[in-house]
Amino acid sequence: MVDRARLAGLMRQEQDRFVAEHPGSARLAEEAGGSLLAGVPMPWMTRWPGAFPLFVEHAAGARFTDVDGREYVDLCLGDTGAMTGHALPRVAEAVHRRALDGLTTMLPSPDAAWVGAELSRRFGLPRWQMAMTATDANRFVLRFARHLTGRTKICVMDWCYHGTVDETLAVLDGDRVVPRPGALGPQVDVALTTKVVPFNDVEALERALAPGDVAAVLMEPALTNIGIVLPDEGYLEAVRDVTRRTGTLLVVDETHTLCAGPGGCTRAWHLDPDMLVVGKPIGGGVPAAAYGVSQELADRLEPQMRGHEIDVAGVGGTLTGSALAMAAVRATLSSAMREEDFAVAVPLAAAWADGVAGVIAKAGVPWHVQQLGARAEYWFCPPPRSGAAAAAAVDEELEAFLHLWALNRGVLLTPFHNMALFSPYHVAADVDRHTEVFAGAVTALLGRD
Ligand code: PMP
Repeated sequence: MVDRARLAGLMRQEQDRFVAEHPGSARLAEEAGGSLLAGVPMPWMTRWPGAFPLFVEHAAGARFTDVDGREYVDLCLGDTGAMTGHALPRVAEAVHRRALDGLTTMLPSPDAAWVGAELSRRFGLPRWQMAMTATDANRFVLRFARHLTGRTKICVMDWCYHGTVDETLAVLDGDRVVPRPGALGPQVDVALTTKVVPFNDVEALERALAPGDVAAVLMEPALTNIGIVLPDEGYLEAVRDVTRRTGTLLVVDETHTLCAGPGGCTRAWHLDPDMLVVGKPIGGGVPAAAYGVSQELADRLEPQMRGHEIDVAGVGGTLTGSALAMAAVRATLSSAMREEDFAVAVPLAAAWADGVAGVIAKAGVPWHVQQLGARAEYWFCPPPRSGAAAAAAVDEELEAFLHLWALNRGVLLTPFHNMALFSPYHVAADVDRHTEVFAGAVTALLGRD
């Protein structure tokens, strides 16, 4: 349906335009290549569609400016790290104040109690701990789950992503659990640590949990890292039921699905997990994550948490829960991602999805667009029910072209996806801009004027 020769030709034009318009980023990329592996401080930063990444000078609200002075509508928002919008004034003040008062002492600061209470209020779980990243938080909850159940395995959804947690970088190949394509240097054979089941498949989950050797199911309530895959009606209730019946802990990772509202899908959909992980935007851009546990698990964990060897237990970290992180989380949760913020961001995501749907319908291509709260995403297939179905529709060339076309016209999409995330700082004109740009790309691609 997509003419590959036409696509390649258009991509070359966009690549040339990108290089010509970003001499400042080109210079910095060349310089960084002399000292940084792959020319970037973190490998994912190579996953942008131009010949080199943009180097960003300034970001505020829903926009950023690169070193060449070009301004962009930011629909990536640091891949959810800045879902609140960039440079929140309350966070800037709190960070500044805390920097003058000392950033880390490995003792609790006065913000600790407020943060714990607010996390409980939002997500419903009564006891909390901090982590530096969502990856860290996931590693810690899996460790607790194995400790509490005495079981060694964990279970995840096919094509999930929960950070760089070794046990979770696994997919199904037929019936076999194998390392996810691209996973570097697996620690051990993932088939030994992990069971993988397709999302929306209750029977597969029943079979995986029946032997009683799985400590925890770790899942997003809707997959967000392989397009958006929404749960079937009744699926999450069935997951809760099977996990309870088999004595398996249920861990919900709300790191991305926090886009559904102030308490994520857990609150919006009345979920009842044993443990919950949340990361990325809760520090307004300052690294921070958190995990909550049920009262029952808290009662069982308390003695260990006060134990003499907790410092070598494999949970926590020196800078975790620092005064800086707690100040940033407090400032963020008291001024962002509240009902009133979602009341602005969610309709913008809906309007974006409507715009994309209109272009898809007009073009007559078999693509779809899906929305979950402030997040929306298009994918090159009809709505998938599983991660594998979504993965089968990945089209790297097409995706790179659509991203670069948008970038060259001042709109940044989220890499690894065709995703847009909205903050209360976005405006309707940003949505219209994207719709126009997307329509232009599809028209060019299909060779229609
Ligand atoms: N959980 C989910 C659902 C995620 O999408 C991600 C990152 N994309 C993580 C955890 C890990 O977050 P981090 O990279 O900040 O550790």
